[in-house]
Amino acid sequence: MKHDLNIIPLSEWGLSAPERPIVIAGPCSAESEEQMLATARGLMGTHVSMFRAGIWKPRTRPGSFEGVGSVGLAWLKTVKQETGFQTATEVANAGHVAEALEAEVDLLWVGARTTANPFAVQEIADALKGVDIPVLVKNPVNPDVDLWLGALERLNASGLKKLGAIHRGFSGVRKTIYRNEPLWQLPIELRQRAGNVPMFCDPSHISGKRDLVQDVCHRAMNLDYHGLMVETHVSPETALSDAAQQVTPARLTEILSHIVAKSVTSDDQVYRGKLDALRDDIDQFDQDLLDLLARRMEAALEIGRIKKQNNVTVYQAGRWDVVRNRMQEHAREHGLGEAFTDGLLKLIHQESINKQQELILDDE
Ligand code: PEP
Ligand code: MN
Repeated sequence: MKHDLNIIPLSEWGLSAPERPIVIAGPCSAESEEQMLATARGLMGTHVSMFRAGIWKPRTRPGSFEGVGSVGLAWLKTVKQETGFQTATEVANAGHVAEALEAEVDLLWVGARTTANPFAVQEIADALKGVDIPVLVKNPVNPDVDLWLGALERLNASGLKKLGAIHRGFSGVRKTIYRNEPLWQLPIELRQRAGNVPMFCDPSHISGKRDLVQDVCHRAMNLDYHGLMVETHVSPETALSDAAQQVTPARLTEILSHIVAKSVTSDDQVYRGKLDALRDDIDQFDQDLLDLLARRMEAALEIGRIKKQNNVTVYQAGRWDVVRNRMQEHAREHGLGEAFTDGLLKLIHQESINKQQELILDDE
């Protein structure tokens, strides 16, 4: 189903620097006024236009640093006065919203654990009724686009129109190099379903380690994201939360210098010509693939008919293992990934089984 959100384009949000990518940087947590000011000063004169800091920290287990609380809001105000940066913080309930608005924070975001909880999102949406402030919604910790979209819908229904999304990755059972697996197709799906909602990338929570931050930023820019939120700390090693993933202001400046905002299209004739030719090729390949799959399915159905006549089971494990091994070897020669090949074959095989089952069950 298509959900038509009523979102104001990012260029009309009243941000102090609306050119893409919009970069929000600052520490995971506000720790002291000195830490905040030193970090913010290190970011002056860079492409960064907004300063972030977590005031209330949602921690997975009690006993970790849970944020300095309300006093940190005064430090955010000092940062704004001393450096001119607009400010942003995370809100998780109506009380946080009231305090952040009182402290004139410029942008609010909803954290990943909160997005996963519709009661909390509704409470925030109710508290923001009639308020004109930009709100960014992080993806929920679990890979569920509906929850993400639902949070945007709740806020939009409260009259908030400066809405955006932050992609911070998803926790999962698989072990990967990332702290939170990016699953890049999910933010793409959200953008399609939510009327091209402005999309920010949070490379810090995706990567979990500072060495990966630049790579994730590049990937996000290649996918035409509107902005970045990067955890930045004047002394990352001593940070009270997320120490491994924060970068210094100097390092962030270096990362940003490598990021050229890419335009979605180019008028260059040679580029256009090459692109059109390659897209024609791809369209033809896709058609050929489907034609081949249809022929494969016809053969599978014929096998089903023969199996039925001979009273043989649909699934025969030995045969499938042989097919799989042979195809994996073939895929390797072509440089195709093992997981991709396996997933594709499983999908095709499953559809063959389903069709054969239908055929056999049809007249039983
Ligand atoms: C954060 O931005 O510091 C934070 C808590 O992030 P997330 O909600 O993505 O875990
Ligand atoms: Mn953090």
